[in-house]
Amino acid sequence: MPIRHLPDTLINQIAAGEVIERPAAVVKELVENSLDAGASRVDIVLRDGGRSYISIADNGQGMTAQEMIIALDRHATSKLPDDDLVHIGSFGFRGEALPSIGAVSRLSLTSRARGAQDSFVVRLEGGRKSDVAPSSHPQGTKVEVSDLFYATPARLKFLKTAKSEARNVREVIDRLAMAWPDVTFSFTNDDKTVLTYPAESGDLFEQRLSRLARIMGEDFSVNALRIDAKRDHYHLTGYAGLPTINRGTAQHQYLFVNNRPVKDRLLIGAVRGAYADFLASNRHPMLSLFLNLPPEEVDVNVHPAKAEVRFRDNALVRGLIVSALRHALAQAGHRASTTVAEQTLQALRPEDWSGEYKQNPANYKNIKGMEGVPYRGSWLEQRGNALLAGFDMPPSARVDAQPVTEENTVTAVQDFPLGVARAQLHETYIVAQTRDGLVLVDQHAAHERLVYERMKKSMQGEGVKRQALLIPEIVEMDDLSAERLLDRKTELETFGLVIESFGPGAIAVQEVPALIGQTDVRSLVVDLADDLANYGQTVSLQEKLQEICGTMACHGSVRAGRRLSVEEMNALLRQMEQTPHSGQCNHGRPTYVELKLSDIEKLFGRR
Ligand code: ADP
Ligand code: MG
Repeated sequence: MPIRHLPDTLINQIAAGEVIERPAAVVKELVENSLDAGASRVDIVLRDGGRSYISIADNGQGMTAQEMIIALDRHATSKLPDDDLVHIGSFGFRGEALPSIGAVSRLSLTSRARGAQDSFVVRLEGGRKSDVAPSSHPQGTKVEVSDLFYATPARLKFLKTAKSEARNVREVIDRLAMAWPDVTFSFTNDDKTVLTYPAESGDLFEQRLSRLARIMGEDFSVNALRIDAKRDHYHLTGYAGLPTINRGTAQHQYLFVNNRPVKDRLLIGAVRGAYADFLASNRHPMLSLFLNLPPEEVDVNVHPAKAEVRFRDNALVRGLIVSALRHALAQAGHRASTTVAEQTLQALRPEDWSGEYKQNPANYKNIKGMEGVPYRGSWLEQRGNALLAGFDMPPSARVDAQPVTEENTVTAVQDFPLGVARAQLHETYIVAQTRDGLVLVDQHAAHERLVYERMKKSMQGEGVKRQALLIPEIVEMDDLSAERLLDRKTELETFGLVIESFGPGAIAVQEVPALIGQTDVRSLVVDLADDLANYGQTVSLQEKLQEICGTMACHGSVRAGRRLSVEEMNALLRQMEQTPHSGQCNHGRPTYVELKLSDIEKLFGRR
């Protein structure tokens, strides 16, 4: 076969294969063009999930007739004025999107340049360009794409259902809309409005928070920590969710480099590292972070769709993200997310609450002051007895707290975010009264977190203090477990645990971490041996510090089922207030739940 140059149409189809793999990719390229053109409003319309029709209209700077003709040519761009691939300040620069899309669909480009009287339209079908014709269009540009992939049927087969393609499109719009909160976006699919994001006002942080509330939900924006950290010329901003509003997938992590949405492994890894202490490995935080750095410090030209980037200084990027997030989480202190109370209320509410009200609204109308408030008589009749039975005090449950007099409660309660201990229930939960509600604490989970945090802190400082046992404790186990522990003898010492061999299958424990105090040494050592079996030989214990501390902390903590005095309970509450990260246990579960009086009133239909 003779060697030859490929025709342009084919070249463009090949290029389209790289970048334009589905409707969402078309939308991404075209919306990016609109943003590059300085638009303050972008309207996206889809039919049939984008398969039959996609239209992107903007009010940006527009194009003249000549510019429109060139724009449809391959490698034609207005965005590299100095032929400089290093200082890229726009989304586009490859000059490939329009010709590529036009090679696999019927594309029509309508535009009116800023300040111009006339507007024009030009078409590109299966790679063939039409003449420019006059049209009528306000300032800005509209690109319409019909019959996507009609020219490349193989691609058509890979499209998913219209619904799922539309979901992908929405995801693309959401990401770009996060980065451009002062731009109005609308998205219509099959004549139904999917979203409208009005331009947000205020400073950049305020704009972003309002936009994030629309995209990620009110729950996120209320429970997000503001991130604003700088190192050299690298600047990290955005919002990171409290660990207690974690999710099962990493999909709710939105990362941007110089305002460009990316899915970069280095960044994802840094986020994971920062939250590792607070979340089980299968739970993921929600966040939206913007890294801004000088363009010469990052290469965006490593991936055709530009989703991945390459940094000049990986360590600096990672360090900045990890330390900024950790710092913010530490500042959050004992804050657990408000969704915890919401979930509690949901759990307490009868499922048929609103359903029943809708069916028999008349039942609820005639009670004075309760108009519109469901009366729960019938629900109580059905289920009240079972519920009340739960309040029958088993003999083990004791209410320990002394009654506190009216005056000293009021001032004391006001001073403490977690309130004053009023009772202990089932020797497991502390009930505290706050100024405007109540707090329910899981004493074991809370104490475990406190011990864990103290342990971590002393490891970083002067090292863990040890406490010698009067008589060494001999722990019997299988040979292999004993060997595993002895292999790590020196490392374990740095954690405060001193062990010796005591014949085959036995270990003598001489010293334990002072922090964990009186504890069941036997089960602690056995648990650690299990941990070691799980990690294997290659991992250093330092790397597994979290789990080791976790195991030790768990053994050193107040057990559920232990009776606490009022002083002990209050001491625990005060320590929680002062300890970073005490709002959740090591697995992202909350250590306490707060119910506001207004929540409680809702429960009882008083509101
Ligand atoms: P790139 O964005 O990489 O430059 P494209 O093929 O996406 O390549 O676009 C080619 C050129 O067309 C752009 O450089 C720009 O000058 C012009 N253009 C495309 N879309 C728009 C738009 N919505 N408004 C104004 N100009 C546009
Ligand atoms: Mg472009």
